[in-house]
Amino acid sequence: MASRTHAITLVPGDGIGPEVSASVVRIAEAAGAATGVKFDWHSFAAGADAFERFGEYIPQALYRSIEENKVALKGPVTTPVGEGFSSINVALRQRFELFANFRPVKNLPGLKTRYPNIDLIIVRENTEDLYAGLEHVIVPGVVQSLKIITEKASTRIAQFAFEYARKHGRKKIHAIHKANIMKLSDGLFLRCCRGIAATFPDVAYAEHIVDNTCMQLVMNPYQYDILLTENLYGDILSDLCSAFVGGLGLVPGANLGTECAIFEAVHGSAPDIAGKDLANPTALLQSAVLMLHHIHEPATAERIQAGLEKVYAEGKVLTRDVGGTSGTSAFADAVIAAMDTA
Ligand code: ATP
Repeated sequence: MASRTHAITLVPGDGIGPEVSASVVRIAEAAGAATGVKFDWHSFAAGADAFERFGEYIPQALYRSIEENKVALKGPVTTPVGEGFSSINVALRQRFELFANFRPVKNLPGLKTRYPNIDLIIVRENTEDLYAGLEHVIVPGVVQSLKIITEKASTRIAQFAFEYARKHGRKKIHAIHKANIMKLSDGLFLRCCRGIAATFPDVAYAEHIVDNTCMQLVMNPYQYDILLTENLYGDILSDLCSAFVGGLGLVPGANLGTECAIFEAVHGSAPDIAGKDLANPTALLQSAVLMLHHIHEPATAERIQAGLEKVYAEGKVLTRDVGGTSGTSAFADAVIAAMDTA
């Protein structure tokens, strides 16, 4: 079979990153071999590991590789708490203007969770808000963090959400805010959302306050379809929504810009379970499925998704976070085997 080769920048990451990345690469290669797709992985360290080896948290070669390949698959990289480099994730998103963080939350077949038939999407602004990293000490004992909201970024993310909704037949967008308190910043965000909503009469639009949204989500998540959020609210609601479908081990994500895209799970580096073959690679695997659709390889994407769903439907080889007893690599083996018969 003639095959196509895709050059993909790979950041295995740290914590559970190397384990889940190795499993995902194995599964992707097996699926690619059956569908005529090859991968040329350009692998780079980032974060503490890279700093020790090259004196840089994000090696210049990694930036160049993403610029060239336009697509990256990234494991979690630990963000130092309280000091040091602000965040590798945030730096990459800002550098490549990956303004849209796209996080679909959907049940897998067979996996019993608190809520069945969840199908919602978080569209999170990815470049500003309190993540702008503008913090300073005013006087000892008093610090200030600046929340930056711009018309440009708010309009761009709203446009993205509405275009996605129209293209994929989604019915309703809720803009999530706290404009009752942050009248200027969240007020601006809402004005931009309303402006775009008015140009999409075929997509219903509503606004919910973020604290109420948390309660509403737990009471009745089915009332939501797409949640359109600023950066921080999206981060918090993503972890909350992951619990509907089985937790952080499952939910994928994409950071999308006009030039480049980085695909990564919602979860972080989970140091508590790192290096123990306990992590669930499903979230990064489903991120790779999003990536494969992005690079127009739907057959490879569907083969992986079918294998994954078969393993969950059978429920025999599952990781501990979703009630199983299997390890990361045994789970990957099961997905590879299931792809042949799914
Ligand atoms: P960050 O703030 O870096 O985004 P987070 O809030 O998403 O991180 P994590 O460290 O990813 O937090 O995860 C919190 C907990 O969820 C972990 O301690 C771990 O127990 C569990 N967890 C996260 N990812 C996975 C996974 N892939 N498999 C199994 N358990 C996981």
